[in-house]
Amino acid sequence: MNALSADLSMSLREKLSQHWQKKQANMVANNMKLFNVWAPTFLHVVFLGAIPWGMLEVIPEEYKDSWTALLAAELFTAFGFIQVMVNWILLWQVDSTYEPAVHGTEPLTSQLRAAVRKNQDVNWSNGAAEANSLTYKGGASQSHYADDSSPDPLFSNRMSSTDGETYQVYVATGITEDGVERRAVPYWSWVPCLVCQKPRPPRCHHCTLCKRCVLKRDHHCFFGRNCVGFNNQRFFIYFLAWSAVLTGWGSYLLPPYVFRHVLPHYSYWDFVWPVNVVRTVFGYFPLAYLHLASVSLGTMILLVFSTFMLAAHINLVLRGVTSFEFDAKVKVADTRPFASRLRSVLGENWGLSLLLPGFAWSEPLDDPVYWPYLKVS
Ligand SMILES: [Zn+2]
Ligand SMILES: [Zn+2]
Repeated sequence: MNALSADLSMSLREKLSQHWQKKQANMVANNMKLFNVWAPTFLHVVFLGAIPWGMLEVIPEEYKDSWTALLAAELFTAFGFIQVMVNWILLWQVDSTYEPAVHGTEPLTSQLRAAVRKNQDVNWSNGAAEANSLTYKGGASQSHYADDSSPDPLFSNRMSSTDGETYQVYVATGITEDGVERRAVPYWSWVPCLVCQKPRPPRCHHCTLCKRCVLKRDHHCFFGRNCVGFNNQRFFIYFLAWSAVLTGWGSYLLPPYVFRHVLPHYSYWDFVWPVNVVRTVFGYFPLAYLHLASVSLGTMILLVFSTFMLAAHINLVLRGVTSFEFDAKVKVADTRPFASRLRSVLGENWGLSLLLPGFAWSEPLDDPVYWPYLKVS
């Protein structure tokens, strides 16, 4: 059926619904790109604003009676800030792109690749691709994106529970004139990536924001402008840990300073966005205090966010599952003890890496392609 006759045979309602679906997909795509800009901007505005206020104004006043306490507070703040920034840079810059030559390929690679290139049916029943089917415990109503933050619905893998027992993903296997052809395959499979033109291992997903297939893709982190995957999950966790410490420290120091110094001379409304912005515009509130009140609020928001994310991700590491597997209740069991699960993500020297920023040579102890320690039932 060509495009015109398809168009003529559709009812107005179908056309409107199709139009709305396209619009929604575009809105999602545009928002994802905006988040990728606004999230790190927010982060840096808060940190780069709060640190000078803390180190130049608040700490010198708070600890003016003891120079040792003052020095300790200043050093601690500087150290925490360096930790946050170095781990943020590593989270942003270290990617986990799947490279078959480096990480290894699966036995049927050549067959799959040939089939994808020729846009043919991939023979899923042929060995490795259908190995390890998973038991699906989620409800039938659940529908997820495997590439959950993927802004491009064309190439995202959608979860399905259609056959009741086996946990499956819908994978784009070809592009026809009617659109993208998808096929349901067991979650724990090697599947082709139509963008990268190569098969990818289990847990490896394509991110259309990062434009690559990411090993052990957990999620796309908008604050870090990168996917959290096999190689940078440790920096993500250190970044969260130090963010929680630093914003906790900031929330202990900054808001009381605002209450002591700023608010008695002005109004309690001056702590509240956007009231204080309006009052600043009309000259009732100094710009410097608007900045201080805003970064104090931002620090508290980041404290809540980083603490929540840190707890969630330590939970995931100790369980040995990805965010997606946890949310979708995919049955993946790590056969190792807790300490080894921690090392599988953070590396052998994880204690040292937590204290020494950029200790990048503590590699995760796991195989991101074959996953020999995972039991998939
Ligand atoms: Zn890809
Ligand atoms: Zn990404």
